[in-house]
Amino acid sequence: MTRHYGIIGHPLAHSLSPLVHNWGFSRFGIDARYEAWDTPSGELAAFMARLRELPVAGLSVTIPHKTAVMGYVDAVTDLGHEVGAVNTLFWRGGVLWAENTDVEGFCRPLVEAGDIAGTALILGAGGAARAAVVGLKRLGLARVGLTGRSPEKAAALAGEFGLEVVDWAARADFSAGLVINATPMGMAGRYEGLSAYPAEALRPGQVVYDLVYNPRVTRFVAEATRAGARVVAGLDMFLYQAVEQFRLWTGRGLPVEELRPLLEETLYGAA
Ligand code: NAP
Repeated sequence: MTRHYGIIGHPLAHSLSPLVHNWGFSRFGIDARYEAWDTPSGELAAFMARLRELPVAGLSVTIPHKTAVMGYVDAVTDLGHEVGAVNTLFWRGGVLWAENTDVEGFCRPLVEAGDIAGTALILGAGGAARAAVVGLKRLGLARVGLTGRSPEKAAALAGEFGLEVVDWAARADFSAGLVINATPMGMAGRYEGLSAYPAEALRPGQVVYDLVYNPRVTRFVAEATRAGARVVAGLDMFLYQAVEQFRLWTGRGLPVEELRPLLEETLYGAA
């Protein structure tokens, strides 16, 4: 019998998750289908009741449900509690669990980049920044600063995790070996061509990690490359959080080297 998987969120128009997971099911000959279920906030409770009836074998969760959905599952992993948000629902022994694979998605590309130590600065104080905060804690960075255009939000997130809050206007003065963009600045559409980080603060040897992955080269990435900094690709965060979801659902490891070109072609067109 075909197993049902999918993603809930709102809006969902451009989600790449169906492409990734349906490719994975077909790659491993698994009889399953992954769909996009656009679910406004007011419909979350009804959806979660239906999920148990169908049943849905596994679920990806995105904005705006990453925290609210925790109230509809049987159990939340320690990591999910720590982040305060989850993006993956899976079953174990009849228990519906909620997990956060964004943290793993965030960490893996940094670990692969190697030589990540010292001081980091996170730009932004939303959901992606939250995953980055927990990820950097895991990686054991000595010093982490967090800055956001809304000072009260940045102070709240920094305070929750014991980080240094950095004044948005003074972010270029905070000397960091790793700078992470967790704002939408640079993203295709209304933010394209903008950067959350002043180019003059970029320097050789620095590592920049732009969580925005469309376009392929954001202004932040272009300016960092020009300054001689190393770039960690935000697309890999998306890729690895999906790999971890697929593993929780099927026990299989999606082959990243096959999947990455497929995503790049879908997002950026032929090389
Ligand atoms: P979010 O929860 O809405 O948070 C966005 C953050 O960016 C907030 O701190 C917001 O500040 C700030 N911000 C928004 N517009 C800004 C501007 N014009 N200038 C400066 N700061 C601004 O969104 P999110 O889920 O954290 O996602 C942030 C970005 O990360 C997304 O655009 C997405 O492209 C990327 N992302 C990538 C991945 C991946 O897998 N690579 C995963 C998740 C997200 P206010 O609170 O003051 O509005």
